[in-house]
Amino acid sequence: MLFPCFSGRRLVTGLATVLALGLSLTAGMAAAQSGKTDVLWLGQSAFRITSPGGKVIVVDPWLKLNPLTPALYKNLDALGKVDVLLVSHGHLDHFADAPALALMHKIPMYAPGDMNQSAALLGILPPELLPRFNKGGTITPAPGIKVTAVHAEHSSVLVWKNAATGKDETHVGGEPLGFIIELEDGFKIYHMGDTGLFGDMKFIADYYKPDLVLMPIGGNFTMGPVDAAFATREWLKPKAVIPMHYGANPLGKGTPAEFIQALGASSTRVLALKPGEKAEFSKP
Ligand SMILES: [Zn+2]
Repeated sequence: MLFPCFSGRRLVTGLATVLALGLSLTAGMAAAQSGKTDVLWLGQSAFRITSPGGKVIVVDPWLKLNPLTPALYKNLDALGKVDVLLVSHGHLDHFADAPALALMHKIPMYAPGDMNQSAALLGILPPELLPRFNKGGTITPAPGIKVTAVHAEHSSVLVWKNAATGKDETHVGGEPLGFIIELEDGFKIYHMGDTGLFGDMKFIADYYKPDLVLMPIGGNFTMGPVDAAFATREWLKPKAVIPMHYGANPLGKGTPAEFIQALGASSTRVLALKPGEKAEFSKP
């Protein structure tokens, strides 16, 4: 059994301390020594997860132009080392800074297989940095880290500027994904990607048993607070949820307060982080 270490208020206090120390690399090394899991939210669906063994996993990095991302992290160097890079689908608010990170760290960009096919043909990254995998597939992108791609009820398209014409073109973006990320100690994080409600969320919860769910609540493009509360209460029932994908544009109106109100009494702890804050998890 794994539990979040901090209540919301203590969480913020702890975080302020970490940020005051300086940068992500320091935080990552601390996590490696402590054997804990750090989950840093950077706005929209962007997270940096530091595993108990010190592996750094970045998901859906939209940082430089994300209005919610703290100024510090608009410099991609501030993430420190990155071992694993995951992209749930081709929309720019999930994909934008991923190619740059792949090149910086010489690591593959794991994204929907057919999206990576497009990216390879367009020359966005060299083919060796564009592995193919797809829903139901499990990869081991770093020792002790397992990632399984699961369904997300959404769409995906890859928009890229044609260098010859200077005009944007749309290309095949594959099927959008969610990710089950299992760390060295068995802690499981379900990053849902962008998704509306779908009944197999219950299957995913029954089969993979995630401890922590990173859940879109903004509405319009994804579940809103009421749907997210239903999924949490009736199907997923994780130990903790971190709300995401809200507040970055005028259409993503859902708020953590609305989500918490719709959820009502629940055994699930809602960790409503501010961008740049992180939650820490460890075995009791
Ligand atoms: Zn999307």
